[in-house]
Amino acid sequence: MMSSVPLPTPMPEVVLDRSPVLAFVGLGGNVGDSAVTLRGAVHRLMTVPRSRVVSVSRFYRTPAWGQENQADFVNAVVAIETALPARVLLNELLNIERDFGRERAADGSGRWGPRVLDLDILLYGERVIDEPGLHVPHPYLHERAFALVPLLDLVSDIDIPGRGSARRALVQVGGAGIESLVER
Ligand code: ATP
Ligand code: CA
Ligand code: CA
Repeated sequence: MMSSVPLPTPMPEVVLDRSPVLAFVGLGGNVGDSAVTLRGAVHRLMTVPRSRVVSVSRFYRTPAWGQENQADFVNAVVAIETALPARVLLNELLNIERDFGRERAADGSGRWGPRVLDLDILLYGERVIDEPGLHVPHPYLHERAFALVPLLDLVSDIDIPGRGSARRALVQVGGAGIESLVER
């Protein structure tokens, strides 16, 4: 008797193991002791599931961007190898921000305003993602020295998909006012 040939059935997505992607997360804060906050946030990033923190940039004191009339920020970038989809990674970041006391106005009015902790996905491998609530590469990365300088600490140069070399972007915006903190 002939054995029946099994029909191919698609695997449910959850059982598919994604190959890890190297993502870069931007960290920032300007309320409270932001260097302490960022150090704590790096430790929390080390506990994100299916992920591994690969490297941490220096910490920088930077002038506020977008809304200039507020305290200087501390900024850094973390390279994290992750098997999480970008959307899940973003949710992890939003949870960490919340745990550190970040409050977000429902109408989005606090954007670019003072905050305890801000965690943004700057790059997620070479992917370009344009979905409601998720834009990668971060739409302003190429315009922000406070993100480019620490990013370039971790990689001597990298292409921002759709924007070209990060190093060239930094030459264009200039790095005025970005100072490395001696300790972190
Ligand atoms: P900016 O995005 O210009 O740096 P912001 O960090 O102050 O401003 P938030 O208020 O922290 O903005 O975030 C607003 C929303 O942006 C978040 O709820 C999130 O859904 C969305 N978002 C879209 N793309 C990204 C990304 N790459 N990283 C983080 N958040 C993102
Ligand atoms: Ca931000
Ligand atoms: Ca943000």
